[in-house]
Amino acid sequence: MTTRGHFGYSERMIQDLRNLLQGLGRRLLPAPAAPVTLNDPEWAALCASVPFIELLSPDEALALRERIGQFLARKTFKGIGLELLPWQRNMITAYACLPILHLGIDAYRDWQTVLVYPDTFAPEQEWVDEAGVHHQAVVPQAGEAWERGPVVLSWNDIAADGAVIVHEMTHTLDAGNGDVNGFPPLPESMSAADWTAAFSAAYEHLREELERGREPAIDPYAATDPAEFLAVACEYFFFAPGYLRDELPEIYLQLAGYFRQEPHLRAPEISTHLPGAAA
Ligand SMILES: [Zn+2]
Repeated sequence: MTTRGHFGYSERMIQDLRNLLQGLGRRLLPAPAAPVTLNDPEWAALCASVPFIELLSPDEALALRERIGQFLARKTFKGIGLELLPWQRNMITAYACLPILHLGIDAYRDWQTVLVYPDTFAPEQEWVDEAGVHHQAVVPQAGEAWERGPVVLSWNDIAADGAVIVHEMTHTLDAGNGDVNGFPPLPESMSAADWTAAFSAAYEHLREELERGREPAIDPYAATDPAEFLAVACEYFFFAPGYLRDELPEIYLQLAGYFRQEPHLRAPEISTHLPGAAA
């Protein structure tokens, strides 16, 4: 064994120490989320089944593929009463990552799990388990995002309309500063006053139109409350951007600033129907 004075260490000792520290490190540190990358056939299958992808610019498509890998590495999918296949998980992830193309994966840091039911679920379900115990639970409608809780989706609904996924993801973004109230955490470059003015005016106008029995410009579900107004507006923003820009230009402008995207440049209207899914 060669030593280099009192404070010298042999190569062997240094290597032993390294091995020891690495072993400790492996035990003490949580394993980093393994990067997940879609292989080329998976990506090609996704491009074929999710219509918005082929309308993205090359840079946006690259960013989407990266976000999808990050999302798959960090989020847990659970099928409730259905076996969720990899292509279904990938399809959900693609829609979920569209709003955060430029916001980054950390915008979804407050929640972990995506629960997928086979079909639209009743608001209240009762069932008897194998042990004969009676259960009763309130479960959400087509899709629901709870603050910091799981995002709940129904496969039949999202296969018929992928915009439902963007709707639910918008609620989780909205929750980013506490309440789900139609006011997500805005970047410093945006004016909170301008956001509030635009959304308050459009929301009040929609409610007035409905009260007068007039045909509303957007889905009347948006009149439920400001959080639903935002989520519904985001569905139009990403998938009927030409229409939203014409009908509610102030809302389009605010959303373009927030998401840092201009979907009307992709196409005025973008299908959200999964090929092969029932209408
Ligand atoms: Zn909603």
